[in-house]
Amino acid sequence: MSERVLIVTGGSRGIGAATARLAGVAGYVVLVNYAANRAAAEAVADDIRAGGGRAETVSGDVGSEADVHAIFAAAERLGRLAVLVNNAGVVDQPATVADMDLKRLERMFRINTIGSILCAREAVRRMSTSRGGEGGVIVNLSSAAAKLGAPGQYVDYAAAKGAIDTFTVGLAKEVAGEGVRVCAVRPGIIETDIHASGGLPNRVAEMTPGLPMRRPGSAEEVARAILWLASDEASYSSGAILDVSGARAILP
Ligand code: NAP
Repeated sequence: MSERVLIVTGGSRGIGAATARLAGVAGYVVLVNYAANRAAAEAVADDIRAGGGRAETVSGDVGSEADVHAIFAAAERLGRLAVLVNNAGVVDQPATVADMDLKRLERMFRINTIGSILCAREAVRRMSTSRGGEGGVIVNLSSAAAKLGAPGQYVDYAAAKGAIDTFTVGLAKEVAGEGVRVCAVRPGIIETDIHASGGLPNRVAEMTPGLPMRRPGSAEEVARAILWLASDEASYSSGAILDVSGARAILP
């Protein structure tokens, strides 16, 4: 039971999958969570095992409290929880606020915000030294949208991610004396399925000429930042929110 377990929610695709693969190489026992895409999650776990690492998969909607309990029960069977990467996230079809209904807003905040808070709660219960734990790290996925607001596309998503920034700062302070660090990354435009899932399959290509680096980021470029924040190299970083956006949405 001395294994260091890393949970990555939404680890079947995109940034989560890249994070899971790098975590496997870094020696973590990786729990790859997914919502629906079991085959993709198993492929990620197979890659980790093929590289000599350890990995398991677990299905579960982070917006369901029962599923969150199941995810953490699966992690407990693997060893000591060292890192939670709160990566699972969704957008929706482009819409103005005037056209957003309650169902959309509830899904947006349930998965992106409440899901991350529920998972962080379970992680703190296991990691906190004041609750018998040995400490640990939580890395949340925010978005450059939290600063830009995403007008005309998904202001609700931007607001849900803005809440993640505030949550990161608040929880970091709350548990700083309990051996738990809490950080976040704010990705810019990253080449993953999320844009097509939100009904904009050409979003990355269309935005590329206007991006400061004239290119999108890769999932692995974000994953490297996540793994660094999770590592002992970042031992004095807590409450930190790292922009991984190729200079997009940088405030003076
Ligand atoms: P993605 O390619 O669309 O992958 C989303 C992942 O989340 C999938 O593994 C999916 O599982 C999982 N997922 C979705 N809903 C879930 C739920 N309710 N419970 C558990 N897992 C769920 O997304 P991505 O682009 O890698 O984004 C990862 C994170 O980075 C998100 O939080 C996103 O908001 C953030 N981000 C992304 C960008 C970008 O440009 N890509 C920019 C800023 C921030 P299935 O495979 O089973 O569907």
